[in-house]
Amino acid sequence: MSVIKLHDKDFEPYITKNKIAKYVQYLANLVAEDLGEKETPIFIGILNGSFMFAADFVREYPYDCHITFVKLASYNGINSSGKIKHLVGLNEDLEGKTVIILEDIIDTGNTLEEIYKIFKDKKVKKLKIATLFFKPDVFRKSLPIDYIGRSIDDKFIVGYGLDYDGLGRNLADIYQLKEN
Ligand code: 5GP
Ligand code: MG
Repeated sequence: MSVIKLHDKDFEPYITKNKIAKYVQYLANLVAEDLGEKETPIFIGILNGSFMFAADFVREYPYDCHITFVKLASYNGINSSGKIKHLVGLNEDLEGKTVIILEDIIDTGNTLEEIYKIFKDKKVKKLKIATLFFKPDVFRKSLPIDYIGRSIDDKFIVGYGLDYDGLGRNLADIYQLKEN
């Protein structure tokens, strides 16, 4: 692994694919232990960033489960804050279901807050959040994050689904923005 360039920026190797696989395995087992074999969860991957994580996660999940994906889109609503988010692509009825959100990374927690807002009126039985990466130094909310793969420094990363302006999602390893 060596330094790579995406658009105008350099990124250096940060987390190898083998390490990532370990975190994914750890998370899948953590959720499985928590839910047990009898509870059949519906995993919801938040696109685009979590597509790779979600695909690997369900392969490690030892029990029956459902998997679906949604996208969070902004539109200009007529509420006080101006912009509100809504879900694109959710066709399943979630009432009475155990829903586990699969996120690539939680940074400020703004997205997480939107997710909690959106799922509040879906009458789910249980809502839990699993994130592969978490940046504790920037997290500003007092919202629960149930399962965390790994906490990382407050530096921009790419790879394994995460992009810099559209590029880098296909990288198997994680790279970190290089400081000049
Ligand atoms: P938050 O709303 O928690 O601030 O940020 C969540 C979203 O911002 C993530 O789902 C991801 O799309 C993006 N994000 C946050 N930190 C990073 C990062 O280090 N690299 C990349 N590529 N995206 C990030
Ligand atoms: Mg995301």
